[in-house]
Amino acid sequence: MQGLVIKSTGSWYQVHGENGLEYNCRIKGKFRIQGIQTTNPVAVGDQVGFELEPNSDNGVINKLYDRRNYIIRKSINLSKQAQIIAANLDQAFLVVTLASPRTSLGFIDRFLATAEAYDIPAMLIFNKLDLYNEDGLEVLAEYQRIYENIGYPCYTVSALEGTNIPLIESLLKDKTTLFSGHSGVGKSSLINVLLPGHSIKTGEISEASDKGQHTTTFAEMHALPFGGYLIDTPGIRELGIFDIKPEELGHYFREMRDLMNQCKFNNCRHVNEPGCAVLKAVENGEIELSRYESYLSIYHGNETRA
Ligand code: GDP
Ligand code: ZN
Repeated sequence: MQGLVIKSTGSWYQVHGENGLEYNCRIKGKFRIQGIQTTNPVAVGDQVGFELEPNSDNGVINKLYDRRNYIIRKSINLSKQAQIIAANLDQAFLVVTLASPRTSLGFIDRFLATAEAYDIPAMLIFNKLDLYNEDGLEVLAEYQRIYENIGYPCYTVSALEGTNIPLIESLLKDKTTLFSGHSGVGKSSLINVLLPGHSIKTGEISEASDKGQHTTTFAEMHALPFGGYLIDTPGIRELGIFDIKPEELGHYFREMRDLMNQCKFNNCRHVNEPGCAVLKAVENGEIELSRYESYLSIYHGNETRA
């Protein structure tokens, strides 16, 4: 039978069978994605084949169907091990906020570059709209200008007051959507509004207790009442750009990607080369300075946190 993996604990997988029933499954055999060793062979969003064990409702996964895309968790040991967070995503939402605590542009840019690298359409959800004062609304307009200019849709919501929730629901309907965001932005609150009856703990993972812990966390997939799936990434502070070579990074900044073939040198790093079309665009304001600074920061392996 074929099914969709909706939950994983590392050794057990909850699989939603095509017959509409749910099965607890284990894994038999080895699955490996090309070139990358992973700590977990199967993740939420995966389509798998499985067989029921004799006289049991438990299944054994024996086939992994090709993935349309997948994202990998930033690993402590980049060269060897990685964790697949989720597979077969239609889109990724980054929940951000401009109030307590403000999400930095650098954090947003790292997320967007990651989404580009994995070829997943991304958008920004600005939460806590109810808290933005005049200054906050000005910053909002600035952020929106930067990101909408380069084609990333921006939406504003208040999980607390329910503002614009129907709009978010219409974007989620019948799609598989990953929700990401740093701690404190109100991601859990927003998910609780979108999933009535579910209760994800809010406000409990503090930055302090989160830091330095390398416990394995798994993404959780929830069926939305109006169709589609929402994938939450509890405790995962930041998705990582896992296997990008520095010289490829420019491809993941979409406004740079379109200009790069005009650079004088075809191995241009866009750092200080003469005849660099990217540098020229930064100078004349065609490319936003903050975006270029994020590029440099990732390029130089700078791990500034939001
Ligand atoms: P998470 O860490 O991103 O999952 O954030 P939580 O959902 O736990 O929310 C962090 C804090 O922000 C909590 O105190 C929430 O009550 C608060 N919060 C979440 N959404 C909103 C909102 O739209 N407006 C306001 N004012 N507070 C919010
Ligand atoms: Zn260049």
